[in-house]
Order: sequence, then C-alpha cells, then structure tokens
Amino acid sequence: AAPLFEARDLVKQFRSRRTVVQAVNGVSLKIPRGRTVGLVGESGSGKSTVARLALRLLDPTSGEVSFDGVDLLRASRAEMRALRRRMQIVFQDPLGSLNPRMRVLNAVGEPLSVHGIAKGKDKADRVVELLERVGLSSGDLYKFSHQFSGGQAQRIGIARALATDPDLIVCDEAVSALDVSVQAQVLNLLKELQAELGLSYLFIAHDLNVVRYMADEVCVMYLGEIVERGDGDELFADPRHPYTKMLVSAVPEFAPELADGRGRRSIPRGEPASPSDPPPGCRFHPRCPQAMRRCREEAPAMHRVPTGRAVACHLFDAPAAPADAEREASE
Ligand code: SF4
Ligand code: MG
Repeated sequence: AAPLFEARDLVKQFRSRRTVVQAVNGVSLKIPRGRTVGLVGESGSGKSTVARLALRLLDPTSGEVSFDGVDLLRASRAEMRALRRRMQIVFQDPLGSLNPRMRVLNAVGEPLSVHGIAKGKDKADRVVELLERVGLSSGDLYKFSHQFSGGQAQRIGIARALATDPDLIVCDEAVSALDVSVQAQVLNLLKELQAELGLSYLFIAHDLNVVRYMADEVCVMYLGEIVERGDGDELFADPRHPYTKMLVSAVPEFAPELADGRGRRSIPRGEPASPSDPPPGCRFHPRCPQAMRRCREEAPAMHRVPTGRAVACHLFDAPAAPADAEREASE
C-alpha cells in the first residue's frame, strides 16, 4: 500500500544576507499508515525543520512532499485546507504553546471553529469527549492553561491535535520538557491513541530511549541528513553508522560501561559543525573515529546493508565491508 506520508529528497536552505544555512539536505522518508517513524539526532540536526516541511508550514527549497497520494506542493488552497485537518503537530513546550488567557474549551476547540467543524454546544460536547480521551474531564473545560501541570498541559495539546480527527500527528520533542515519570504516561497515552485511532506519528526527539520506545522505524539525522535508517529495536541494538554508534554509546542504559557511577551520559565526541558551514565530503568526518581520506572529499551515498538497514557511510561501499561479509556468511 502507498504510505500515508512521503518526502522525497527534501532540501531546505535559509538564506540571510551573508549566510546560507543548509538546514535539511536531501531527506527522504515514508510514514506507513498506523505506524511511527522516529527522527533522532542532536539539536541543530534539522529535525524540527523536517517537521515543518512535512506539514507544509514551510516550503522546501527543493524536493517533494505527499500526503495520502496528494502532492502537497502542488495542492490548491482548498485542497491544502482540507489536508491540514488530517495533519497535526504537538510541540515541545505545552504551556508555552497554549495561550494562557484561553480557557481549555477554546484551546482545544479552536481547530473545530477554524475548520468549521463544530460550534456552541456541539463544540463543548466534542471538547469534553476529547478531554476524556486524553485523561482529563469536563471539570477542566473552563480552566486556564496555567492551572495545569506540564503533563496535563501536554494532554491538552494532544486533545487539541486530535480535534480535527487527523491521520498524522507530528510530535516534535513532545515529552522533552516533562519529568521522566510523566513522560512515560504521555508516551503511553500516545500509544493508546494510535492503537484506537490508527494514527501515524512522525516522532521527533533527541532522547534515544524515548524514540526507541515509540518508533517502529528510526531515522538518525546529522547536520540535515539522514545517516542511518532501520527497524528501531535493531538499529539501537546494533548501530552501524559511526554517528549512531556514538549516540548509542552515550546512553548508559544502552551501554552501561560507558556511563559514570551516577549514570550520567558521556558526552559525544566533538561538537556538531554548523549547518551554515557544513564540512565537505561526509558531514560527520571531523568527529568520526573511522574517517578515511576520501571521507573529507566525497559525500557517501545511502547503502542498503543486510536486515533492511540503510547507512550513508563509505565504510559500507561495495564490495561489502568485511563485517557485512562475515555476518552474511554466518547467517
Ligand atoms: Fe566516518 Fe567516513 Fe563513514 Fe563519514 S563516511 S561516517 S567520515 S567513515
Ligand atoms: Mg528541534
């Protein structure tokens, strides 16, 4: 079946007078119906820009985006308006993204008004249903957002995203601002909603544990590019790209021997370069422990490796790297 969402070779450059920031450089991804695709990477890797391009809150410099078979960049205003109901976003900062002077009725019900779905008593009834669906109640209808905890406020954000009965929800660092115990509750709510409503998620986070918990497929981004993609559990259990290995080794739960006594994470080696001045060749080469001479000159292509993995790294150039040959021989 055709995926619900597909992006092909997305490029986004932000130009100012002196600089061109290459925020996204050739990103392709597909989100199947009812599934979760995770996008992980350090801040500045371009994840949020991909989110905005996916929803067409931004137009790409080049590339294509389609939703349910419709080319979003060629859609008419009327088509786009109809499609917007079906694609929603949940942001990182639940309190900041809600207007503090708006009562919950209007914060959650606003999309119902904007899209002409319901008003008056119908709207209030629908908002109560939405609140109950996310674990809040009719008693919350006339409260203001500042009266809620961070976790409750994020439930309100989710209720608002659900108001138009979407097919796709982009979660951009949706639990990053919450305490770990509250994170788990919100993640479980998102999973329950997915099972009940058949939602697809583009789930963006810098926290590998959160992405591993949520995503069926994971894409790892570095400086505007996807460097590795694969089944979530397999990718974290057996990272292949040197950058993914670095990320995974920095998480104590994945690699306990690398954490200090208090369970703190070791810092990934080196700082990411700036997207306004990306390194030539492989963008990761200044930080890569396995960098070779050609890595400084030639950008690696995406290579398929066994078990459905794709890795953008010269170590995987044909003929198969020795590690792959051994693996295949022993399988
Ligand atoms: Fe490292 Fe070279 Fe692979 Fe880039 S292409 S990740 S620099 S080995
Ligand atoms: Mg971001």
